[in-house]
Amino acid sequence: MPTFAMSRIFCIANQKGGVGKTTTSVNLAAGLAKIGQRVLLVDLDPQGNATMGSGVDKRNLGTSVYDVLLEATGIASARVRAERAGYDVLGANRELAGAEIELVNLPQRNERLGLALAQVTADYDFVLVDCPPALSLLTLNGLCCAHGVIVPMQCEYFALEGLTDLVNTIKQVHANLNPGLQLIGLLRVMFDARITLQSQVSEQLKMHFGDKVFNTVIPRNVRLAEAPSYGLPGVVFDPSSKGALAFVEFAREVAGRVGIHSA
Ligand code: ADP
Ligand code: MG
Repeated sequence: MPTFAMSRIFCIANQKGGVGKTTTSVNLAAGLAKIGQRVLLVDLDPQGNATMGSGVDKRNLGTSVYDVLLEATGIASARVRAERAGYDVLGANRELAGAEIELVNLPQRNERLGLALAQVTADYDFVLVDCPPALSLLTLNGLCCAHGVIVPMQCEYFALEGLTDLVNTIKQVHANLNPGLQLIGLLRVMFDARITLQSQVSEQLKMHFGDKVFNTVIPRNVRLAEAPSYGLPGVVFDPSSKGALAFVEFAREVAGRVGIHSA
């Protein structure tokens, strides 16, 4: 694993839906905040689940990531504080669904998020980008400015197959658009060790990807699934739940990988 001095923009990506991207984004953000890190969470999904799951109402956003990408609004004025969650949010809502098409004709269409983030990186130790379930222009904006990609995945039969496209995309972006981009690691989520298939896929993953597989494993835990309806990351909603403890552990692992050693 490489150690970075300033490598702190991480995309949470997987082109499949429902694999745990948003749960990972909000809980890693809250976990990092809990260990004293300053975090900005960027919601790049028009569904706005990371926004809502952080306790920010996507229906009442004055400005959103849409304005940042399309209207050149500064992040300093578009971000909001998710007070209870403990980090800042650049929110998203349905408006962002149109951005994909509108971006096509704009200059620097792949770099617009990166250019905007450059204005505020001094304010944060970590910027996390919750990507939509597609290898789209929105996701590309995340990958073009990120130092790393964190890939949450369920240990299921087709999981490895889906990874090939994502790994190829990361390689392409690395080669052509962002030489700083790295696959930071694969995070096993919704894990149930009692299910033999999951343990088998988990072993396969370690064989194929070695130390690119994070040590921390996130268990299937109902408290993590309940938390968004309270507008809170699971880490804040029920800090002693197994899921919350796993995500705080994961936050420490991620911080450790960039050379931050928290208490
Ligand atoms: P994505 O952002 O990739 O679409 P989500 O994070 O929204 O995926 O997760 C999909 C569903 O699975 C959500 O209902 C979420 O609450 C649930 N979920 C995610 N991780 C866990 C977990 N570790 N334990 C239980 N439920 C989970
Ligand atoms: Mg999501």
